[in-house]
Amino acid sequence: MSGIPKVILAGGKDQSPRRFHPWIFSGAISKIKGDVQDGDVVEVYTNKEEYLCTGHYQKGSIAVRIFSFQQVNPDEQFWKEKIEKAYNYREAIGLIGNNNTNVYRLVFGEGDGMPGLIIDYYNGTAVIQAHSIGMHRDKDKIVSALKEIYGSELKAIYDKSKESLGDRHGYIMTNGYLFGEDKTKEVLENGNKIKVDWEEGQKTGFFIDQRENRKLVGQYAAGKKVLDCFCYAGGFSVYALKAGAAEVHSVDSSKTAMKLTDDNIQLNFGGEAKQTSHVADAFDFLKDNQNQFDLMVIDPPAFAKHKDARHQAVMGYKRLNALAIAGIRPGGIIFTFSCSQVVDKYLFHGAITAAAIETGRTVRILQYLSQPTDHPISIYHPEGEYLKGMMLHVE
Ligand code: SAH
Repeated sequence: MSGIPKVILAGGKDQSPRRFHPWIFSGAISKIKGDVQDGDVVEVYTNKEEYLCTGHYQKGSIAVRIFSFQQVNPDEQFWKEKIEKAYNYREAIGLIGNNNTNVYRLVFGEGDGMPGLIIDYYNGTAVIQAHSIGMHRDKDKIVSALKEIYGSELKAIYDKSKESLGDRHGYIMTNGYLFGEDKTKEVLENGNKIKVDWEEGQKTGFFIDQRENRKLVGQYAAGKKVLDCFCYAGGFSVYALKAGAAEVHSVDSSKTAMKLTDDNIQLNFGGEAKQTSHVADAFDFLKDNQNQFDLMVIDPPAFAKHKDARHQAVMGYKRLNALAIAGIRPGGIIFTFSCSQVVDKYLFHGAITAAAIETGRTVRILQYLSQPTDHPISIYHPEGEYLKGMMLHVE
């Protein structure tokens, strides 16, 4: 394509894009032809000037986020086709036109061939989160694509990119509606009502990625005394109560999160639920409440956001899970998770094993857990697998 700046890779550095890995690291670049600013579209070439791929440029360790391995002109039509493909896939897996669930991830970055872009759908409102300035700049094209694809079903689009754009670019914008406004903010997930606060809440408002695991917890919760640790909006608590748990205790250190949990319990059960909210540190709560629970959900925030923090994070998972394993009643079940991308499933497994050894209890793995199908993982981008979980049985 004429006019698009060219990024030329150093010799031998073409292997990664040839295997469709969607990132070009800065160290792989030998030179850039043309004036390139953060957010610009660039074409990537081998040192023999053979075309490889097209993406958004941004200074930093990941210098190019690739959205096409064929020469393209990324105009409105291009983005529309990409988003339409993501929509058709969600329709094929039964998430669109579903009477029990109207909340799902429409675009999952690299997993949908759109690195740097997250779009979550909340019952008529699309919440956009750009993680790259290139995607942020293309937001008008994304907005018109969404309007065209959803038609009158789409009531609002909210842009929540300020935090995800980071310090270098986030200052250029404030979060807000790009179209319409929705004040109800209520969604349905597997028949459960959930209030979602995309304006003030964490991430895009709700942890959609735990949908299938919440359902699984529901399958084991009947008659159990359940602890929902790091509960945020109380999703796991709602499912456990719906399934007939004897009692549910929800723990989060954030008062705002606890308010969301309380609202969601109220929304689904009125004042009748056998549920107690605790604004507390999860580590302290586990220490103070040993031998109380039959089923525990341990779903902490990412302990490591960068590789440098990985060791500390692994130690954190070990300490947390040792408390859970030591404290659960005999015959109890623990659903434990990590959403740190830099702690892969093997490291997480290691941390849990070390935690079990420390307690000396008999622990069995009943199931390995992951992210749901609206968070697909490109086989060429294993980094996309960020949510890992284990279902444990403790004697
Ligand atoms: N399980 C939730 C998502 C959890 S997100 C769901 O299904 O939606 C992680 C939560 O942990 C956040 O709400 C955050 O406020 C809380 N948190 C962070 N550190 C904590 C700590 N030390 N003790 C208790 N909660 C904590």
